[in-house]
Amino acid sequence: MTGHIFIITGPSGVGKGTLCALLLKINPRFTLSISATSRTVRAGEVDGVNYYFKTREAFEAMIEHDRQALDATQHHLLEWAEYNGQFYGTPREPVEAALQSGRHVLLEIETAGAMQVKQKFPAACQIFIAPPDMTTLEQRLRARDTEDELNIQNRLRIAQHELTQQDRFDYVVINHKLDSALSEISQIVENWHGSGV
Ligand code: 5GP
Repeated sequence: MTGHIFIITGPSGVGKGTLCALLLKINPRFTLSISATSRTVRAGEVDGVNYYFKTREAFEAMIEHDRQALDATQHHLLEWAEYNGQFYGTPREPVEAALQSGRHVLLEIETAGAMQVKQKFPAACQIFIAPPDMTTLEQRLRARDTEDELNIQNRLRIAQHELTQQDRFDYVVINHKLDSALSEISQIVENWHGSGV
């Protein structure tokens, strides 16, 4: 039995990472996809654990390789997007290997990438995580203390746009409280095409 892709998307600071970590704990059939990015490493992040950190040139070379590839089975990336001036993308091969071995794959990615994955894998389940309101999102982003002021402002501006897109996804879960958002997501996962988690 092959696995399914579950995409956790939504604005930066909404709690996607925390929800993914909790989902991994309660669902042993899940594998978390590790993305590639050109952004700089934050304090505490580890290459190969949080992300595969690439130079801009190396990332652009992957994009160019995929552009010239004869078919999608040769692609390095399943999807990629530019977010806040940096590249982010999902390595294709580990996702396909995990699916074939019967595992479900969790992608924590922004909205443009989420749409690309759905195009390639129509059976993928997209869950958009929304904040209760913009003020709460800003508070969470600031409390995380990972970004400078310019980055916070950019991320909030991008979030405004992402929130206008939420109806395009399979499900929207409002992250008021972590435990109720988690149980809503667990319910969605359980019911998705008999995914049998
Ligand atoms: P951050 O810089 O906060 O780690 O990530 C910025 C945004 O990029 C977040 O919304 C995050 O979910 C998204 N992101 C992380 N990895 C990927 C990926 O592989 N592809 C896409 N499209 N977005 C990603």
